[in-house]
Amino acid sequence: MIRADKISLDTIGKKVENGERLNLDEGVFLYQDDVPLNEVAELANMVRERKNGNYAYYNINTHLNPTNVCVYRCNFCAFRADLRDPRGYLMSDEQILARGQEAVDNGCTEMHIVGGLHHQKKFDWYVNVVKILHDAFPKLHLKAWTAVEINWFEFLTKKSVREVLEVLRDAGLGSMPGGGAEIFHREVRDQICEHKADTGKWHEIHRTAHEMGIKTNATMLYGHIENAYHRVDHLIRLRETQDVSGGFQTFIPLAFHPDNTELAELKKLKKPSVMMDLRTMAVSRLMLDNFPHIKAYWIMLGIGTAQTALSYGADDIDGTVRHELIYHDAGATTPEVMSVEDIQRLIVEAGREPVERDTVYNRVIRDPQNMSQWTTGEPLEVG
Ligand code: SF4
Repeated sequence: MIRADKISLDTIGKKVENGERLNLDEGVFLYQDDVPLNEVAELANMVRERKNGNYAYYNINTHLNPTNVCVYRCNFCAFRADLRDPRGYLMSDEQILARGQEAVDNGCTEMHIVGGLHHQKKFDWYVNVVKILHDAFPKLHLKAWTAVEINWFEFLTKKSVREVLEVLRDAGLGSMPGGGAEIFHREVRDQICEHKADTGKWHEIHRTAHEMGIKTNATMLYGHIENAYHRVDHLIRLRETQDVSGGFQTFIPLAFHPDNTELAELKKLKKPSVMMDLRTMAVSRLMLDNFPHIKAYWIMLGIGTAQTALSYGADDIDGTVRHELIYHDAGATTPEVMSVEDIQRLIVEAGREPVERDTVYNRVIRDPQNMSQWTTGEPLEVG
Protein backbone atom coordinates (compact mmCIF):
# COMPACT_ATOMS: atom_id res chain seq x y z
CA MET A 1 0.00 0.00 0.00
CA ILE A 2 1.37 3.41 -1.00
CA ARG A 3 0.98 6.11 1.71
CA ALA A 4 -1.20 9.07 0.75
CA ASP A 5 1.72 11.52 1.04
CA LYS A 6 3.74 9.37 -1.38
CA ILE A 7 1.16 9.35 -4.15
CA SER A 8 2.32 10.67 -7.51
CA LEU A 9 1.36 10.14 -11.11
CA ASP A 10 4.47 7.97 -11.42
CA THR A 11 3.42 5.59 -8.65
CA ILE A 12 -0.12 5.45 -10.04
CA GLY A 13 1.21 4.95 -13.57
CA LYS A 14 3.27 1.95 -12.47
CA LYS A 15 0.25 0.39 -10.79
CA VAL A 16 -1.89 0.90 -13.89
CA GLU A 17 0.81 -0.60 -16.12
CA ASN A 18 0.94 -3.65 -13.84
CA GLY A 19 -2.83 -3.97 -13.73
CA GLU A 20 -2.93 -3.20 -9.98
CA ARG A 21 -6.00 -1.73 -8.34
CA LEU A 22 -6.03 1.97 -7.36
CA ASN A 23 -7.27 2.98 -3.91
CA LEU A 24 -9.47 5.84 -2.72
CA ASP A 25 -6.60 8.25 -2.01
CA GLU A 26 -5.15 7.63 -5.46
CA GLY A 27 -8.52 8.24 -7.10
CA VAL A 28 -8.95 11.52 -5.22
CA PHE A 29 -5.38 12.50 -6.17
CA LEU A 30 -6.24 12.04 -9.88
CA TYR A 31 -9.03 14.59 -9.47
CA GLN A 32 -6.67 17.38 -8.33
CA ASP A 33 -6.57 20.30 -10.77
CA ASP A 34 -2.75 20.36 -10.72
CA VAL A 35 -2.50 16.72 -11.87
CA PRO A 36 -2.16 17.10 -15.67
CA LEU A 37 -5.31 15.85 -17.32
CA ASN A 38 -3.47 14.70 -20.44
CA GLU A 39 -1.36 12.34 -18.33
CA VAL A 40 -4.40 10.94 -16.51
CA ALA A 41 -5.97 10.46 -19.94
CA GLU A 42 -2.94 8.54 -21.19
CA LEU A 43 -3.28 6.06 -18.35
CA ALA A 44 -7.04 5.74 -18.87
CA ASN A 45 -6.47 5.21 -22.57
CA MET A 46 -4.01 2.41 -21.81
CA VAL A 47 -6.69 0.58 -19.81
CA ARG A 48 -9.36 1.34 -22.41
CA GLU A 49 -7.25 -0.14 -25.22
CA ARG A 50 -6.25 -3.12 -23.09
CA LYS A 51 -9.90 -3.93 -22.53
CA ASN A 52 -11.46 -2.92 -25.84
CA GLY A 53 -8.69 -2.40 -28.38
CA ASN A 54 -9.53 0.28 -30.90
CA TYR A 55 -13.25 -0.50 -30.93
CA ALA A 56 -15.81 2.18 -30.14
CA TYR A 57 -19.25 0.68 -29.69
CA TYR A 58 -22.64 2.14 -30.53
CA ASN A 59 -26.13 0.75 -30.88
CA ILE A 60 -29.35 1.62 -32.65
CA ASN A 61 -31.77 2.32 -29.89
CA THR A 62 -34.73 4.33 -28.76
CA HIS A 63 -36.03 5.61 -25.45
CA LEU A 64 -39.46 5.23 -23.92
CA ASN A 65 -40.50 7.26 -20.88
CA PRO A 66 -44.08 6.01 -20.42
CA THR A 67 -44.92 8.61 -17.75
CA ASN A 68 -43.23 11.61 -16.18
CA VAL A 69 -45.60 11.69 -13.21
CA CYS A 70 -43.61 10.85 -10.12
CA VAL A 71 -44.26 10.57 -6.39
CA TYR A 72 -40.67 11.54 -5.66
CA ARG A 73 -39.11 14.99 -5.85
CA CYS A 74 -35.43 14.55 -6.50
CA ASN A 75 -34.21 18.13 -6.63
CA PHE A 76 -31.89 17.57 -9.61
CA CYS A 77 -34.74 16.27 -11.79
CA ALA A 78 -36.34 18.47 -14.46
CA PHE A 79 -38.34 15.61 -15.95
CA ARG A 80 -40.87 14.77 -13.23
CA ALA A 81 -44.34 16.26 -12.91
CA ASP A 82 -46.96 16.26 -10.17
CA LEU A 83 -50.14 14.24 -10.67
CA ARG A 84 -52.22 17.26 -11.64
CA ASP A 85 -49.46 19.20 -13.38
CA PRO A 86 -50.45 20.10 -16.98
CA ARG A 87 -46.96 18.87 -17.99
CA GLY A 88 -47.76 15.40 -16.64
CA TYR A 89 -48.46 12.61 -19.10
CA LEU A 90 -49.17 8.90 -19.14
CA MET A 91 -48.86 6.92 -22.36
CA SER A 92 -51.60 4.55 -23.50
CA ASP A 93 -50.92 0.98 -24.69
CA GLU A 94 -51.51 2.18 -28.25
CA GLN A 95 -48.92 4.94 -27.93
CA ILE A 96 -46.42 2.52 -26.39
CA LEU A 97 -46.96 -0.03 -29.17
CA ALA A 98 -46.62 2.69 -31.80
CA ARG A 99 -43.21 3.50 -30.32
CA GLY A 100 -42.28 -0.19 -30.53
CA GLN A 101 -43.32 -0.30 -34.18
CA GLU A 102 -41.35 2.85 -34.94
CA ALA A 103 -38.31 1.31 -33.22
CA VAL A 104 -38.51 -1.89 -35.25
CA ASP A 105 -39.10 0.02 -38.50
CA ASN A 106 -35.94 2.01 -37.78
CA GLY A 107 -33.88 -1.12 -37.15
CA CYS A 108 -33.51 -0.56 -33.38
CA THR A 109 -32.11 -3.47 -31.40
CA GLU A 110 -32.93 -1.93 -28.01
CA MET A 111 -35.57 0.09 -26.21
CA HIS A 112 -34.44 1.88 -23.02
CA ILE A 113 -37.46 2.24 -20.72
CA VAL A 114 -37.51 4.42 -17.59
CA GLY A 115 -39.95 6.92 -16.17
CA GLY A 116 -41.66 8.34 -13.13
CA LEU A 117 -43.30 6.47 -10.26
CA HIS A 118 -46.91 7.27 -10.93
CA HIS A 119 -49.07 7.85 -7.84
CA GLN A 120 -52.01 5.85 -9.21
CA LYS A 121 -50.38 3.07 -11.22
CA LYS A 122 -49.92 -0.38 -9.75
CA PHE A 123 -47.11 -2.82 -10.51
CA ASP A 124 -49.30 -4.51 -13.15
CA TRP A 125 -49.22 -1.35 -15.27
CA TYR A 126 -45.41 -1.40 -15.37
CA VAL A 127 -45.37 -5.14 -16.12
CA ASN A 128 -47.86 -4.52 -18.92
CA VAL A 129 -45.56 -1.93 -20.58
CA VAL A 130 -42.87 -4.60 -20.89
CA LYS A 131 -45.25 -7.42 -21.79
CA ILE A 132 -47.13 -5.76 -24.64
CA LEU A 133 -43.87 -4.61 -26.21
CA HIS A 134 -42.21 -8.00 -25.83
CA ASP A 135 -45.24 -9.88 -27.18
CA ALA A 136 -45.49 -7.62 -30.23
CA PHE A 137 -41.74 -7.18 -30.91
CA PRO A 138 -39.91 -10.16 -29.36
CA LYS A 139 -36.59 -9.34 -31.04
CA LEU A 140 -36.42 -5.84 -29.52
CA HIS A 141 -34.30 -5.97 -26.34
CA LEU A 142 -36.08 -4.22 -23.46
CA LYS A 143 -33.65 -2.57 -21.04
CA ALA A 144 -36.23 -1.54 -18.50
CA TRP A 145 -36.72 0.06 -15.08
CA THR A 146 -33.99 1.34 -12.82
CA ALA A 147 -33.30 0.07 -9.31
CA VAL A 148 -35.40 2.98 -8.00
CA GLU A 149 -38.39 1.66 -9.91
CA ILE A 150 -37.73 -1.92 -8.82
CA ASN A 151 -37.63 -0.70 -5.21
CA TRP A 152 -40.95 1.10 -5.78
CA PHE A 153 -42.48 -2.13 -7.14
CA GLU A 154 -41.24 -3.94 -4.03
CA PHE A 155 -43.09 -1.35 -1.94
CA LEU A 156 -46.26 -1.62 -4.05
CA THR A 157 -46.41 -5.43 -4.11
CA LYS A 158 -44.68 -6.40 -0.85
CA LYS A 159 -42.77 -8.93 -2.96
CA SER A 160 -39.02 -9.46 -2.65
CA VAL A 161 -36.59 -7.96 -5.18
CA ARG A 162 -36.12 -11.40 -6.72
CA GLU A 163 -39.87 -11.98 -7.05
CA VAL A 164 -40.37 -8.58 -8.69
CA LEU A 165 -37.55 -9.25 -11.13
CA GLU A 166 -38.91 -12.73 -11.92
CA VAL A 167 -42.29 -11.26 -12.89
CA LEU A 168 -40.61 -8.65 -15.09
CA ARG A 169 -38.24 -11.13 -16.68
CA ASP A 170 -41.16 -13.44 -17.49
CA ALA A 171 -42.91 -10.46 -19.10
CA GLY A 172 -39.92 -9.77 -21.35
CA LEU A 173 -37.41 -7.59 -19.48
CA GLY A 174 -33.98 -8.28 -20.98
CA SER A 175 -31.66 -6.16 -18.83
CA MET A 176 -31.68 -3.14 -16.53
CA PRO A 177 -30.37 0.39 -16.99
CA GLY A 178 -28.05 1.94 -14.40
CA GLY A 179 -30.05 4.99 -13.32
CA GLY A 180 -30.95 6.05 -9.81
CA ALA A 181 -27.39 5.67 -8.52
CA GLU A 182 -26.79 9.47 -8.39
CA ILE A 183 -24.13 9.75 -5.63
CA PHE A 184 -24.06 6.96 -3.06
CA HIS A 185 -22.44 8.82 -0.17
CA ARG A 186 -25.04 9.88 2.42
CA GLU A 187 -23.59 13.38 2.79
CA VAL A 188 -24.78 14.02 -0.77
CA ARG A 189 -27.61 11.52 -1.28
CA ASP A 190 -29.55 12.86 1.69
CA GLN A 191 -29.50 16.33 0.12
CA ILE A 192 -30.58 15.40 -3.40
CA CYS A 193 -32.88 12.38 -3.17
CA GLU A 194 -33.24 11.31 0.45
CA HIS A 195 -36.56 9.51 -0.05
CA LYS A 196 -35.78 7.13 -2.90
CA ALA A 197 -33.96 3.76 -2.94
CA ASP A 198 -30.99 4.14 -0.63
CA THR A 199 -27.48 3.07 -1.49
CA GLY A 200 -27.74 -0.37 0.13
CA LYS A 201 -30.99 -1.09 -1.70
CA TRP A 202 -29.62 0.09 -5.06
CA HIS A 203 -26.72 -2.35 -4.74
CA GLU A 204 -28.93 -5.19 -3.45
CA ILE A 205 -31.19 -4.86 -6.49
CA HIS A 206 -28.29 -4.95 -8.94
CA ARG A 207 -26.65 -7.87 -7.12
CA THR A 208 -29.92 -9.80 -7.22
CA ALA A 209 -30.35 -9.09 -10.93
CA HIS A 210 -26.80 -10.31 -11.58
CA GLU A 211 -27.45 -13.51 -9.60
CA MET A 212 -30.45 -14.11 -11.85
CA GLY A 213 -28.33 -13.61 -14.99
CA ILE A 214 -29.81 -10.18 -15.75
CA LYS A 215 -27.09 -7.79 -16.92
CA THR A 216 -27.21 -4.20 -15.69
CA ASN A 217 -25.43 -0.87 -16.11
CA ALA A 218 -24.37 1.67 -13.49
CA THR A 219 -24.28 5.47 -13.45
CA MET A 220 -23.04 8.42 -11.38
CA LEU A 221 -24.55 11.90 -11.48
CA TYR A 222 -21.66 14.34 -11.03
CA GLY A 223 -21.02 18.07 -11.23
CA HIS A 224 -23.45 19.32 -8.58
CA ILE A 225 -22.81 19.44 -4.80
CA GLU A 226 -20.51 16.41 -4.55
CA ASN A 227 -16.72 16.56 -4.37
CA ALA A 228 -13.90 14.32 -5.60
CA TYR A 229 -14.02 12.17 -2.47
CA HIS A 230 -17.74 11.42 -3.00
CA ARG A 231 -17.14 10.54 -6.64
CA VAL A 232 -14.29 8.15 -5.96
CA ASP A 233 -16.18 6.61 -3.04
CA HIS A 234 -19.07 6.01 -5.46
CA LEU A 235 -16.79 4.27 -7.96
CA ILE A 236 -15.25 2.07 -5.29
CA ARG A 237 -18.69 0.95 -4.05
CA LEU A 238 -19.57 -0.06 -7.61
CA ARG A 239 -16.28 -1.90 -7.98
CA GLU A 240 -16.95 -3.82 -4.77
CA THR A 241 -20.40 -4.94 -5.93
CA GLN A 242 -18.96 -5.95 -9.28
CA ASP A 243 -16.34 -8.06 -7.45
CA VAL A 244 -19.18 -9.99 -5.82
CA SER A 245 -21.79 -10.35 -8.57
CA GLY A 246 -20.01 -9.45 -11.83
CA GLY A 247 -23.07 -8.47 -13.90
CA PHE A 248 -22.36 -4.80 -14.60
CA GLN A 249 -21.58 -4.17 -18.25
CA THR A 250 -21.12 -0.44 -18.63
CA PHE A 251 -20.51 2.52 -16.38
CA ILE A 252 -22.01 5.80 -17.54
CA PRO A 253 -20.88 9.03 -15.83
CA LEU A 254 -23.79 11.46 -16.15
CA ALA A 255 -23.04 15.18 -16.16
CA PHE A 256 -25.53 17.24 -14.16
CA HIS A 257 -27.72 19.46 -16.32
CA PRO A 258 -28.97 22.39 -14.22
CA ASP A 259 -31.78 23.94 -16.29
CA ASN A 260 -35.22 23.75 -14.68
CA THR A 261 -33.90 22.01 -11.55
CA GLU A 262 -34.53 23.04 -7.96
CA LEU A 263 -31.00 21.98 -6.98
CA ALA A 264 -29.36 24.41 -9.41
CA GLU A 265 -31.64 27.18 -8.21
CA LEU A 266 -30.92 26.45 -4.55
CA LYS A 267 -27.16 26.10 -4.87
CA LYS A 268 -26.61 28.38 -7.86
CA LEU A 269 -25.04 25.57 -9.87
CA LYS A 270 -23.74 25.59 -13.43
CA LYS A 271 -23.06 22.71 -15.79
CA PRO A 272 -19.75 20.90 -15.20
CA SER A 273 -16.94 21.99 -17.53
CA VAL A 274 -15.62 19.90 -20.41
CA MET A 275 -12.41 19.38 -18.38
CA MET A 276 -14.44 17.96 -15.48
CA ASP A 277 -16.34 15.71 -17.90
CA LEU A 278 -13.12 14.34 -19.37
CA ARG A 279 -11.37 13.94 -16.02
CA THR A 280 -14.37 12.06 -14.64
CA MET A 281 -14.34 9.78 -17.67
CA ALA A 282 -10.64 9.03 -17.21
CA VAL A 283 -10.77 8.54 -13.43
CA SER A 284 -13.79 6.25 -13.84
CA ARG A 285 -11.90 4.09 -16.33
CA LEU A 286 -8.94 3.88 -13.95
CA MET A 287 -10.91 3.09 -10.80
CA LEU A 288 -13.39 0.62 -12.32
CA ASP A 289 -10.86 -2.02 -13.26
CA ASN A 290 -13.54 -4.74 -13.30
CA PHE A 291 -16.05 -2.95 -15.57
CA PRO A 292 -15.70 -3.98 -19.21
CA HIS A 293 -17.09 -0.72 -20.64
CA ILE A 294 -17.22 3.02 -19.95
CA LYS A 295 -19.74 5.04 -21.91
CA ALA A 296 -19.54 8.63 -23.15
CA TYR A 297 -23.27 9.37 -23.35
CA TRP A 298 -23.34 11.92 -26.16
CA ILE A 299 -26.82 13.19 -25.29
CA MET A 300 -25.52 14.49 -21.99
CA LEU A 301 -21.93 15.38 -22.81
CA GLY A 302 -22.48 16.92 -26.20
CA ILE A 303 -21.15 15.42 -29.39
CA GLY A 304 -17.68 17.03 -29.28
CA THR A 305 -16.94 15.98 -25.70
CA ALA A 306 -18.23 12.46 -26.31
CA GLN A 307 -15.97 12.17 -29.33
CA THR A 308 -12.96 13.38 -27.31
CA ALA A 309 -13.85 11.05 -24.43
CA LEU A 310 -13.07 8.08 -26.70
CA SER A 311 -9.41 8.87 -25.92
CA TYR A 312 -10.07 9.50 -22.21
CA GLY A 313 -11.19 6.01 -21.23
CA ALA A 314 -14.56 5.66 -22.97
CA ASP A 315 -15.15 2.83 -25.44
CA ASP A 316 -18.89 3.29 -26.03
CA ILE A 317 -20.89 6.27 -27.21
CA ASP A 318 -24.46 4.99 -26.71
CA GLY A 319 -26.74 4.98 -29.71
CA THR A 320 -28.93 6.80 -32.14
CA VAL A 321 -31.32 7.57 -29.24
CA ARG A 322 -34.78 8.55 -30.37
CA HIS A 323 -37.20 10.31 -27.99
CA GLU A 324 -34.85 11.19 -25.12
CA LEU A 325 -36.72 13.48 -22.70
CA ILE A 326 -35.03 13.38 -19.31
CA TYR A 327 -31.90 15.41 -20.14
CA HIS A 328 -33.53 17.56 -22.76
CA ASP A 329 -35.99 18.72 -20.08
CA ALA A 330 -32.91 19.73 -18.06
CA GLY A 331 -31.44 21.80 -20.86
CA ALA A 332 -29.42 19.37 -22.99
CA THR A 333 -28.91 21.07 -26.35
CA THR A 334 -27.85 17.95 -28.23
CA PRO A 335 -30.07 16.69 -31.08
CA GLU A 336 -32.84 14.25 -30.11
CA VAL A 337 -31.63 11.63 -32.56
CA MET A 338 -28.38 10.98 -34.41
CA SER A 339 -28.10 9.02 -37.65
CA VAL A 340 -25.94 5.90 -37.87
CA GLU A 341 -23.80 7.66 -40.50
CA ASP A 342 -23.14 10.56 -38.10
CA ILE A 343 -22.28 8.23 -35.21
CA GLN A 344 -19.90 6.24 -37.38
CA ARG A 345 -18.31 9.40 -38.74
CA LEU A 346 -17.66 10.90 -35.32
CA ILE A 347 -16.10 7.62 -34.15
CA VAL A 348 -13.86 7.36 -37.22
CA GLU A 349 -12.81 11.01 -36.82
CA ALA A 350 -11.77 10.12 -33.26
CA GLY A 351 -9.43 7.48 -34.69
CA ARG A 352 -11.52 4.54 -33.52
CA GLU A 353 -13.24 1.66 -35.28
CA PRO A 354 -17.03 1.85 -35.04
CA VAL A 355 -18.73 -1.41 -34.05
CA GLU A 356 -22.47 -1.82 -33.77
CA ARG A 357 -23.33 -3.86 -30.70
CA ASP A 358 -26.54 -5.14 -29.17
CA THR A 359 -27.44 -4.44 -25.54
CA VAL A 360 -25.34 -7.29 -24.16
CA TYR A 361 -22.32 -6.62 -26.39
CA ASN A 362 -22.73 -9.03 -29.27
CA ARG A 363 -21.83 -7.76 -32.72
CA VAL A 364 -24.87 -6.78 -34.80
CA ILE A 365 -24.84 -7.83 -38.45
CA ARG A 366 -27.00 -5.71 -40.78
CA ASP A 367 -28.50 -6.82 -44.07
CA PRO A 368 -26.89 -4.38 -46.56
CA GLN A 369 -30.02 -4.56 -48.76
CA ASN A 370 -32.30 -3.64 -45.88
CA MET A 371 -30.58 -1.97 -42.92
CA SER A 372 -33.59 -2.42 -40.63
CA GLN A 373 -32.99 -6.19 -40.76
CA TRP A 374 -30.28 -7.57 -38.50
CA THR A 375 -28.93 -10.71 -36.87
CA THR A 376 -26.82 -11.25 -33.78
CA GLY A 377 -23.14 -11.99 -34.31
CA GLU A 378 -20.32 -13.07 -32.02
CA PRO A 379 -19.73 -11.72 -28.49
CA LEU A 380 -17.46 -8.66 -28.54
CA GLU A 381 -14.66 -9.42 -26.13
CA VAL A 382 -11.18 -8.03 -26.44
CA GLY A 383 -9.44 -8.20 -23.07
S1 SF4 B 1 -35.16 11.30 -10.81
FE1 SF4 B 1 -36.69 9.69 -11.12
S2 SF4 B 1 -37.47 9.24 -9.05
FE2 SF4 B 1 -36.45 11.24 -8.94
S3 SF4 B 1 -38.09 12.73 -9.30
FE3 SF4 B 1 -37.12 12.33 -11.29
S4 SF4 B 1 -38.41 10.74 -12.20
FE4 SF4 B 1 -38.86 10.74 -9.99
